[in-house]
Amino acid sequence: MTASQPPEHRPGSEPGRHNLDPHLDRYAARTAGMTASEIRALFAVASRPEVVSLAGGMPNLAALPLDSLSTQMAELISEDGLVALQYGSAHGVPALREQICEIMAMEGISAHPDDVVVTVGSQMGLDMVTRLFCDPGDVVIAEGPSYVGALGSFAAYQAKVVHVAMDDNGLIPQALREALAHAEKQGRRVKFLYTIPNFHNPAGVTLAVERRAEIVEICAQHGVLVVEDNPYGLLAFDGQTYPALRSLDPDNVVYLGSFSKTFASGLRVGWVLAPHAVREKLVLAAESATLCPPTLNQLVVSRYLETHDWKGQIKTFRENYRERRDAMLSALEQHLPEGSSWTHPDGGFYVWVTVPEGVDTKAMLPRAVTARVAYASGTGFYADGFGSRQMRLSYCYPTPERIREGVRRLAGVLESEMEL
Ligand code: PMP
Repeated sequence: MTASQPPEHRPGSEPGRHNLDPHLDRYAARTAGMTASEIRALFAVASRPEVVSLAGGMPNLAALPLDSLSTQMAELISEDGLVALQYGSAHGVPALREQICEIMAMEGISAHPDDVVVTVGSQMGLDMVTRLFCDPGDVVIAEGPSYVGALGSFAAYQAKVVHVAMDDNGLIPQALREALAHAEKQGRRVKFLYTIPNFHNPAGVTLAVERRAEIVEICAQHGVLVVEDNPYGLLAFDGQTYPALRSLDPDNVVYLGSFSKTFASGLRVGWVLAPHAVREKLVLAAESATLCPPTLNQLVVSRYLETHDWKGQIKTFRENYRERRDAMLSALEQHLPEGSSWTHPDGGFYVWVTVPEGVDTKAMLPRAVTARVAYASGTGFYADGFGSRQMRLSYCYPTPERIREGVRRLAGVLESEMEL
């Protein structure tokens, strides 16, 4: 084919097919699963200053000690620059992996630093774990709703997501049993349960401690791995920590951790703790993806943990988020119309709202943005189109005043929607 051929004969330009992308016929089959998330698409509009955005999940970093961090980064470069600016191992900086083990001990996990792999955020961990385990058509069980970035990874590897219901105490063990039995009856291969036990994104609920042993036991009985994603675990408003699923069955749980919510999301430092054999495969997968995580960023995190009162810093973050959670819950109570309900998070960033019957949150979103408030509509958090009566509201970033104003605007939009 030559450039002189008429456009109607070029790939992707057959009648009825959009011809904006001349590479359309070249993509691998799995690329079809890669679609822009509704939430990411919204970011541009929602970030206009006049819009109160309750849509994004950006951590509020205002309380970070920027002056001492910048001094420390300068020291790091001058004292250790030739290491900090050099390639490192795909496994991650050894000192940081030891510190990560100390952090996980707070959740009852006893881990060896060799079994920790440092990643570029826990998102990379999610991607690698899916890459290692999922062939096209394999089933991943996930809570319904679930984290949009995880659904993106599962779609990219053509895994089929089966959602399992939650209640105010998190994932329902009986619903998990039924989903596993159903998948087995259909002859499908279930590869893992993906679960966010603490301060769920987007549902805001926490898995009850008494359910935890039961969940890991059900998975072990069915020969299904558990992938425990825990970026919010240290952000309980009362400072409590919950036993990690990993602490209950170390041989069958892959744990994903992150410094994004407890320190700085832009450094992109997270980790995976995996059973020994899986860890070896993860290091190989990490090598082929990035060669190594950024050495400088790992050393910044490591020095920060060594020299700063990081636990005190997390306490400050928790207090900020708690104040914002309180503002959101009281505004919802005050303004939302009858027929609405919502979850009551004890930590983390999110409230999951169910709106009155007849309202479609995705269809309503443009009208909400016109009314200068944004949220994340529920369907983006399901792989199967469910969630049209739900929305996620994030209280992490705006001030309490803006949160109150945003909820007031939202209630106004909901009321006019109900009159339509
Ligand atoms: N898992 C969950 C549940 C999340 O909410 C997020 C970030 N929003 C991530 C993983 C990814 O976090 P990061 O890559 O920044 O560590």
